[in-house]
Amino acid sequence: KLENATLKAELGRATWKFMHTMVSRFPETPTKEERNTLETFIYLFGRLYPCGDCARHFRQMLAQYPPQTSSRTAAAGWLCFVHNVVNERLEKPIFDCNNIGDFYDCGCGEEGKEKKE
Ligand code: FAD
Repeated sequence: KLENATLKAELGRATWKFMHTMVSRFPETPTKEERNTLETFIYLFGRLYPCGDCARHFRQMLAQYPPQTSSRTAAAGWLCFVHNVVNERLEKPIFDCNNIGDFYDCGCGEEGKEKKE
């Protein structure tokens, strides 16, 4: 089958959105188990991401820049950084990681609190 850049980009956007939103909800002070879970997820992601070339690049990046999981801030900063490495390779604009703050909102509200309309 031919490569389809539109679909590849769509998958990339959806994936980055999911990943950044996931780490924006990672605990500020994770337990050892939570840290291990995130790290394991990231390595498994590198094995399973369906774009093979992307996944191979990502695994090389993991070898160079191991996942940071000591806190939400560390994890979000790390993911922003590696996304920028990909941006650089694809000649896309670099994102200012200082502005990541509330950029990714899962829309799930505060757990255990009432739902908003
Ligand atoms: P995306 O890079 O998808 O970003 C989506 C949005 O996220 C941006 O519009 C911006 O608002 C925000 N954003 C941008 N940078 C950051 C950042 N650093 N931190 C937080 N938010 C940010 N495509 C290829 O063609 N070749 C590859 O080798 C390749 N490797 C990939 C590897 C991985 C692990 C992933 C997840 C995707 C890969 N892709 C690859 C897809 C590529 O990264 C883009 O997702 C795709 O090209 C669409 O780009 P985009 O311009 O819409 O923005």
